[in-house]
Amino acid sequence: MDAIDLILAKREGRRLSDEQIDWFIGSYTEGTVVDEQAAALLMAILFRGLDPDELTRWTQQMIATGTRADLSSLARPTVDKHSTGGVGDKISLVLCPLVAACGAAVPQTAGRGLGHTGGTLDKMETIPGWRSTLDPAEVARILGGVGAVINAAGPDLAPADGKLYALRDITGTVESIPLIASSIMSKKIAEGTGALVLDVKVGTGAFMKDVARARELSEVMVGLGAAHGVRTTALLTQMDVPLGRTAGNALEVVEAVTVLAGGGPSDIIELTLALAQEMLDLVGLDADPAAALADGRAMDTWQAMVRAQGGDPTAVLPRAAEVELVAAPATGTLSKLDAMGVGVAAWRLGAGRARKEDDVSPIAGVVWRATVGDHVEAGQPLIELHLDDPARLPAALDALHGAIEVSPTPVNPPKMILGRVT
Ligand code: URA
Repeated sequence: MDAIDLILAKREGRRLSDEQIDWFIGSYTEGTVVDEQAAALLMAILFRGLDPDELTRWTQQMIATGTRADLSSLARPTVDKHSTGGVGDKISLVLCPLVAACGAAVPQTAGRGLGHTGGTLDKMETIPGWRSTLDPAEVARILGGVGAVINAAGPDLAPADGKLYALRDITGTVESIPLIASSIMSKKIAEGTGALVLDVKVGTGAFMKDVARARELSEVMVGLGAAHGVRTTALLTQMDVPLGRTAGNALEVVEAVTVLAGGGPSDIIELTLALAQEMLDLVGLDADPAAALADGRAMDTWQAMVRAQGGDPTAVLPRAAEVELVAAPATGTLSKLDAMGVGVAAWRLGAGRARKEDDVSPIAGVVWRATVGDHVEAGQPLIELHLDDPARLPAALDALHGAIEVSPTPVNPPKMILGRVT
């Protein structure tokens, strides 16, 4: 086989054979196909696409570069959730223990944040003692007992994706639907879950800026799940406005715990319950997630889950010593709080990373005291910028430029669920 044949075939819009796909994924992962040729093929795929059979094979081969976990011996049905990434998205922290409290096992493999969206592992690692790296036996033991685990992707989880994603990142080929779908689904299928709910974000703060493209991505991922024996559905959810009231690692853990304690912002509760219901329906469990949240069962499971991974759920999390306030510009209804602006501000304060190797600040981040649809008074403190390194403040303030608008007339909060794909 020669990589040039694959590049020319795809460049001209022809189908790749199973043998060509198997050879390319294996050889690139091993390092016998060079980056230049892989980049050319990815660019050809970005323009020409992959048909459903090519994509199924491509994804299967990505999984085969590592191992697919087998969780079939667990007594509970397994179901996971994946979000395509948003601002203030701490849903997994509430959802995993909640769904486990309802009788399922949730084997969540999570990632770190990159760019303006946060990562679940970065948030969980603000809890003293909490460990993200577990071996497969520990994962199985915790799933069998507590019922929920949040762990880091190990070297055996679709290793082809690490190389392909890094190359896509520097060659302008991230935005290809088949490449995004195979990247996400190879990891989720390899983690061993039997069912999966996708939270596909749509809006200014998301990968997918419009509902039509988000629906297309959802349909491709749902199809890939089915082709690999993983029952999959997707909710399309809004990401024009950030979720909850906080973006930043420890800040988001504190907010998630507030929701588990029965309080917290209504948008987080609405989305968590919608995703929980979807997950429970997929595995045929007849349980009431609202009741499990209200009566403390989800909180009990959260505490057990944190302890099972070495963390102290009672520890007081670090907070910024210095907070800068931004005032509301006028009196009226908050009509815009741009998710991208808030996400970039939190990132620039140190909550996120620009490169994979960067460290993140546990304490830096943004708190908004009101959200779209709320009444605000001119001059009231609207945004808190939690500082770890005050030198980062000007760039963060810059990101908020144009991100906030106040209307003299009433404005409704955005609709949370924009669609569903099964
Ligand atoms: N998340 C992933 O894991 N892969 C992509 O390609 C995009 C988002």
